[in-house]
Amino acid sequence: MIRSALLLAAAGVALSGCIVDTHVVQAPPVQAAPAGGVPAGMQYLYGSGEAAALSAQAYAALVDHVRARMAKDDPRGSGPRTSVVLAPGATLASPRFQSCGDKPAAAVFDVDETLLLNLGYESYDAEHGGAYDAARWDRWEKTGAMKVAAVPGALDAVRALRAMGVTVIFNTNRAAANAEQTEAALTFAGLGPARHGETLFLKGDVDGKSGKDGRRDAIAQRWCVVAMGGDQLGDFTDLFAGLIPPERRMAAASPVIGSMWGRGWFVLPNPVYGTGLGSTYDQTFPSATRWTDPQEKH
Ligand SMILES: [Mg+2]
Repeated sequence: MIRSALLLAAAGVALSGCIVDTHVVQAPPVQAAPAGGVPAGMQYLYGSGEAAALSAQAYAALVDHVRARMAKDDPRGSGPRTSVVLAPGATLASPRFQSCGDKPAAAVFDVDETLLLNLGYESYDAEHGGAYDAARWDRWEKTGAMKVAAVPGALDAVRALRAMGVTVIFNTNRAAANAEQTEAALTFAGLGPARHGETLFLKGDVDGKSGKDGRRDAIAQRWCVVAMGGDQLGDFTDLFAGLIPPERRMAAASPVIGSMWGRGWFVLPNPVYGTGLGSTYDQTFPSATRWTDPQEKH
């Protein structure tokens, strides 16, 4: 009981600094760092071979998928070509995808913790803790371009996609006012070029919103999107916004949406912040699955 209350309180703290929907850019870590230590999520994402392997695995699968598709996908051919961007009016229960016509191929990626690891910002966060600070994040966007690293596997993937003639497009909720610095961060990490309004779409671009569907639609007007990569479900569609964690989890693994993972939609790990965090004890552990140690004294 006390444990549940503590976990719920911890979840409450985690939720207090962010909006748990697709609009989130950053959120505070759930776990407090031990003295002089690093929160477990950061150890995993930034410090572990396991996370590096997961990321490399996602990018290898993405490149293989796009390569196979490009081999049979002829923009001048007569066969129908379908985007991996959902069409307006689509729902999670009944998804429909945009048609491509003869548009050239592109792959669309989120930036933070998808292509770029924000090591500088998170190192400060690990040391100082506290709630997510939007003003500090803005200062990070402005000054942190040389304190980032490419996600494992991302460099090879971006190079391979470009070599196949697939345009790499960045769709991020970084601020439009910091476009130049974000272009510089991507270039520094070896992932560029990125050009705002051309291959770089930032928060508020197109429709003034932080949800990414408007930008995805605009991209899909010009390009045939053959793959998308992200670390939050909002990097694929805004339809998950507003759902509680168990609903999001069920929808993500539903037959039709679930069939997209690894087949056009590719997810990168992020146990540090964002919409994947924030489920309560009850939402995380269904009551039928809970266990009590038989040795526990009553
Ligand atoms: Mg991200």
